[in-house]
Amino acid sequence: MQKPQKKELIASVKGMHDLLGDDYAYVERVIKEVRRVSDYYGFSPITTPHLEKTELFERPLGAESDVVEKQMYSLRTKGGDRLTLRPEGTAPIMRAYFEHGMGSMPQPVKVFYGGSFFRHENPQAGRFREFHQAGVEVIGDDDAINDALVIRILVSAIQSLGLKDIMVNINTIGDKVCRPAFRKELINYYRKHQERVCKDCKRRIKENPLRLLDCKEEVCMQIAKHAPQMVDYACEFCKKHFAEVLEYLDESSIPYFLDSHMVRGFDYYGRTVFEIIPTDAGDGIVPQAIGGGGRYDDLAELMGARKTPAVGGALGAERVADLLRKKGIKARSETHPKIFLIQLGPAAKKKSLVLLEDLRKIGVPVMQTLAKDSLRAQLAIVSKLHIPIALIVGQKEALDGTVALRNMETGVQETIPTEKFIGTIKARLKEFS
Ligand SMILES: [Zn+2]
Ligand SMILES: [Zn+2]
Repeated sequence: MQKPQKKELIASVKGMHDLLGDDYAYVERVIKEVRRVSDYYGFSPITTPHLEKTELFERPLGAESDVVEKQMYSLRTKGGDRLTLRPEGTAPIMRAYFEHGMGSMPQPVKVFYGGSFFRHENPQAGRFREFHQAGVEVIGDDDAINDALVIRILVSAIQSLGLKDIMVNINTIGDKVCRPAFRKELINYYRKHQERVCKDCKRRIKENPLRLLDCKEEVCMQIAKHAPQMVDYACEFCKKHFAEVLEYLDESSIPYFLDSHMVRGFDYYGRTVFEIIPTDAGDGIVPQAIGGGGRYDDLAELMGARKTPAVGGALGAERVADLLRKKGIKARSETHPKIFLIQLGPAAKKKSLVLLEDLRKIGVPVMQTLAKDSLRAQLAIVSKLHIPIALIVGQKEALDGTVALRNMETGVQETIPTEKFIGTIKARLKEFS
């Protein structure tokens, strides 16, 4: 017989985390803020499933993208289907756009989304394998005002969360017409330096030359400095579009920086690409983008649908949360209710549930610790939080059908009969508003 083994407690999966307490509140706040601002601009919320068919991501993101190459959580079902936990939100939303015939609705279709996404990355500061994003997409229109609107919404959300020191790094990566010539020049340039670039970049010259530009290796950054710039190769159409986006940003006083080396990791991007970065990360620290996005006019075609211009962007909730925490911005506003319910004895405890529900129905917030029975413990909380009104239900009040109301500042106590309960509470609350 085997000795019974000591059971080990099962822990969460590496890189994935529980959200609770302040962590929960921060992430929720970021998502809510993007929702609130986008709601104002007429965006409707959408959620898509966490699992999608693997092909949905493979082609649009690019077989050579880091995400498709090594970061997707994919599985095969018993029936043989290949499924993937969504690594990003845009391809699923484009799928939904066609699946629900949104192309025949008034264009553009504007949607908001918020939720968790999955990438098998090396967990490091600010990077999780399950992370949260809040984003917006504008589908079915190629006007530059849409690009500016997406950036406006994300920047406004960040600003109203209390973060002021941010910058939008922006670039154009051209379209199918002008990008090939740029790509060729880029390859020519990097061939001359191929002995010096890092191992990954040697591979990128063949597979994904645009990504050469944003390699973070010191030697590659030096080489990139003199690399050809897309903006010099952009066709008239792309140039004009980009100039318009910048004019809208100027007009809206959104701080931006023309970053001619910025590209984004997915094949579906074209023309406008942008990232939002904090500008006060400190000397010598390469700031991590807290959001980003761009135009993806070719995504629909990559998915086998008809050409549909679109633009979108998202904030990384954990990254924004991290910044809020560093800045000492609280996860939630600390406003305490003005009333605390004190209950003493079994009969009062029973009655307190009814009282609380009556107050909840008229929208009066009340604090309580129903599990605590001692008067002293309950009063300690009232005075610690400076709550001005205590409602006290003791054995006597429970029997009489009354409630005692004590003004904690003056110590004056009155007895309220049930029928006058709501009216009196409202009147007393006014005195403290
Ligand atoms: Zn490199
Ligand atoms: Zn072009």
